[in-house]
Amino acid sequence: MKLAQRVQDLPPYLFAAISKKIAEKRAAGVDVISFAIGDPDLPTPPHILDSLVGAARDPINQGYPDSDGLPEYRKAVAGWYERRFGLSFDSDKEVLPLIGSKEGIGHVPLCFVDPGDVALVPDPGYPVYPVAVQLAGGTAYPLPLTEEQGFLPDFDAVPADVADKAKLLFLNYPSNPTSAVADIAFFESAVAFAKKHDIVVVHDMAYSEIAYDEYVPPSFLEASGARDVGIEVHSLSKSYNMTGWRIGMAAGNADCINALGRVKSNLDSGIPNAIQRMAITALEGPQESIREATAIYQRRRDTLVEAVRSAGLEVTPPKASLYLWCRLPDGTSSIDFAARLLDDTGVVVTPGVGYGEHGEGYVRLSLTIPDDRLKEGIERLKEWRAG
Ligand SMILES: *Cc1c(COP(=O)(O)O)cnc(C)c1O
Repeated sequence: MKLAQRVQDLPPYLFAAISKKIAEKRAAGVDVISFAIGDPDLPTPPHILDSLVGAARDPINQGYPDSDGLPEYRKAVAGWYERRFGLSFDSDKEVLPLIGSKEGIGHVPLCFVDPGDVALVPDPGYPVYPVAVQLAGGTAYPLPLTEEQGFLPDFDAVPADVADKAKLLFLNYPSNPTSAVADIAFFESAVAFAKKHDIVVVHDMAYSEIAYDEYVPPSFLEASGARDVGIEVHSLSKSYNMTGWRIGMAAGNADCINALGRVKSNLDSGIPNAIQRMAITALEGPQESIREATAIYQRRRDTLVEAVRSAGLEVTPPKASLYLWCRLPDGTSSIDFAARLLDDTGVVVTPGVGYGEHGEGYVRLSLTIPDDRLKEGIERLKEWRAG
């Protein structure tokens, strides 16, 4: 069997070495504690689950969904944007339901990137951006995110020929893996850059509701002119502990939304209607569960920050997202570090280089680990020191 070139060209799985080690440790009876996975351990709130159960029993939800979703769900998304950011959208033209934001991110390069075109992606960043660009036949050009620049890309540093060939720019704030945040002034500089070079912007806002210390993340679409140049993708995964239910949304520029809808209508048949009904309940119902979850994550953040510092790493407590992005002692390889930590303590962290070349020198720890396991992991970190 000969695999298509585009599959052969998929990058090697950078975490393969660590995964193999985890499997070996577990087989040898080691009690492995993983800080590697960003998947909320807290339950989906009961009123949201009740809504799913009711909707599942209603035959009206049985048939094929429309690929552009239920009008009621699109309206619920528009209503959420209105309440949360004071932005109003035409729910038929400027909102598109997604099967999780990863699905939208995966498909969006098919709308704007032709073979030979360039797309700008954050480095370190969510690995789906460059791979989706590559699958569309384009080339991903990494924008280095450095600690000195607050993990924001420097648009002035993009070579002119690259900017001219670029069709698409991915941004992600609050950021995975760096947990950095961006303000509206930064988003306005992105809009200016995009207008100058005729680039579509896709902002991934997966973590906008997971924020600490009274910080409230803005939407890219609050930036003036943002709706002229792009869209935002968001999802219920992180906000409502709904990663397994697979539902999200895109909002913004009507032409972009229309193009993405055309691609999707040829590839998928939308989100199960019962899941869309559940998501309406999540967006329109009481929002206390978000405050409760962020209070838990904030407490975990504070205890884990202390533990990683005592283990010899440097970290700025994040204002948002589910991650600690920790700087290793100078010259330490993130893969070697993660392997050594696992060997010595049974604790798993994600090597930063897995998110791109500029992630080297860092490791990521997730806050989505149950409190008893967190406590045990923290004790092991405190007894250990990076050498
Ligand atoms: C978790 C995450 C998503 C959300 O993915 P879903 O498909 O909506 O579950 C999107 N982007 C980033 C950067 C993430 O970390």
